[in-house]
Amino acid sequence: MADTNIPQEECAEKKGLNFVEQIVADDLAAGKNGGRLNTRFPPEPNGYLHIGHAKAICMDFGVAEKFGGTCNLRFDDTNPVKEDVEYVDSIREDIHWLGFDWGDREYYASDYFPQLWDLAVRLIKEGKAYVDDQTSEQIAQQKGTPTTPGQESPYRNRTPEENLDLFIRMNNGEFEEGARVLRAKIDMASPNMHFRDPIMYRIIKTPHHRTGTTWKVYPMYDFAHGQSDYFEGVTHSICTLEFVPHRPLYEHFVKELADDSYCPRQIEFNRLNLTYTVMSKRKLLQLVKEGLVDGWDDPRMPTISGMRRRGFTPASIRNFIDKIGYTKYEALNSISLLEHAVREDLNSIATRGMAVIKPLKVVITNYPEGQSETVEMENNPENPAEGTHSMPFAREIYIERDDFMENPPKKFFRLFPGGEVRLKGAYIIKCEEDGVIKDADGNITELRCTYDPDSRSGMPGSQRKVKGTLHWVAADTAVDATVRMYDRLFAVENPAAEEGDFRDMLNPESLIVVDGVKVEPFIARNAENGKKFQFQRIGYFTPDYSSTPDHLVFNRTIALKDSWEKEQKK
Ligand code: ATP
Ligand code: MG
Repeated sequence: MADTNIPQEECAEKKGLNFVEQIVADDLAAGKNGGRLNTRFPPEPNGYLHIGHAKAICMDFGVAEKFGGTCNLRFDDTNPVKEDVEYVDSIREDIHWLGFDWGDREYYASDYFPQLWDLAVRLIKEGKAYVDDQTSEQIAQQKGTPTTPGQESPYRNRTPEENLDLFIRMNNGEFEEGARVLRAKIDMASPNMHFRDPIMYRIIKTPHHRTGTTWKVYPMYDFAHGQSDYFEGVTHSICTLEFVPHRPLYEHFVKELADDSYCPRQIEFNRLNLTYTVMSKRKLLQLVKEGLVDGWDDPRMPTISGMRRRGFTPASIRNFIDKIGYTKYEALNSISLLEHAVREDLNSIATRGMAVIKPLKVVITNYPEGQSETVEMENNPENPAEGTHSMPFAREIYIERDDFMENPPKKFFRLFPGGEVRLKGAYIIKCEEDGVIKDADGNITELRCTYDPDSRSGMPGSQRKVKGTLHWVAADTAVDATVRMYDRLFAVENPAAEEGDFRDMLNPESLIVVDGVKVEPFIARNAENGKKFQFQRIGYFTPDYSSTPDHLVFNRTIALKDSWEKEQKK
């Protein structure tokens, strides 16, 4: 025991295990639960999964994978008012997309309603539960505070017979919602507020998406979760830190069922909080319902489906989660770290191509009219095995409007009158002193340039150095596209911590739609769903679901560099 001063987490890290994995390893070594390992991921189907859930998924499925156990998918569907099959389907899809599988172990808390009912009846008969006729406000008022004891309900000492009769009638639909609840009879003076006769069941008359109108009473989270773990054979019930104070109650109810041979155990880790976004399902639902975003899978949303649509990869999300790790302390993680992981993965897999976002036409006056040729472009310099593609070059091309300045400042290494640049993969061009063509309002409409025929790669002048290299596309073969430039959803770092309405903190520039973008034919030909591109010098893009060959639509996944970081350093 030489390391007694080092926190458990650090010890575990030394062995390459996080603190949860260390607990699991120790339990397995001690032969607990017959040497079995079974975790579960327990989403409530009341919204789409977000990146915070991805952290829980990586833990629940990851630890099972690592130690040869299994992980159940359990839908925690105990509140029919908020739940829907649409959410069940999206949750399944998102977990699979992240790369995890639950095999045939798909369960629902609603599957256990009969067993939970039986347990409740048993507790009533044993004098451990009672029906309370008070309103939820009255019950809350009697709760007391952590330092002062609560007050006992006037209904606390009903006989088991009366309680059972009332509970059955609650479930028969004889009473209105809110008229009565079933409470556990534990201790109104307990220092743990969760022990002050917690509510076990409430009346809900909305039909359930799986059990229909069978039930009129529904179990509360604290009465359902631990027992569901037990019924399923879950050994390690891993959740987030806000459940620490619930743990004694979890153990209290589980003890009614478990014995020495098998008992589920709750372990808590820190939840994922991310800058420039919100993680509350309630707030995300509000953004969707009020049309402030384009659905749960809007590419600005922190949802898994939004990130998928935006072009994030499962690997980048998993790498990010790996990097931030699991601890017992709440933290706010920088979205820049996630973006870094996305860039890193896309840099290795994205197909390179050229697109001009704000086109400016260039006519190369000494290039013969009607002539054209092709140049070879590398598909991915990070992976030469991906080969090359050819790109047309012609007398008329487009360059980026921002790459030209009529009166440039010093050290402007792009194009200006009298200046030279290399067109990436092709020739050096020079803008003529009198080559700036304008319309009646003085707007630049076209540039007249000349090219150096010797400067193409493989030619004698190919080694000639010029300061700037621009991306470009040939005008007549370019294909029109719309791009959606996405940026961070919120303008403030931590919307949840700010005073005021979070909706007022949305970033007004989180989506800028640009039409008339010119892409090279190779991009247009390969713009199938899920394809990842790097538009050279611009950023990473992926076709949106709405994209068709007749109207190409690309989502910007992320710019090549972190412009926000630069802003902050100014
Ligand atoms: P609700 O308020 O609806 O309960 P929730 O975000 O807790 O919202 P659940 O569907 O209950 O949603 O979550 C399923 C699992 O995901 C839980 O085990 C929960 O602890 C975990 N989880 C939820 N949010 C995060 C987060 N931000 N970071 C890590 N894990 C999370
Ligand atoms: Mg929850």
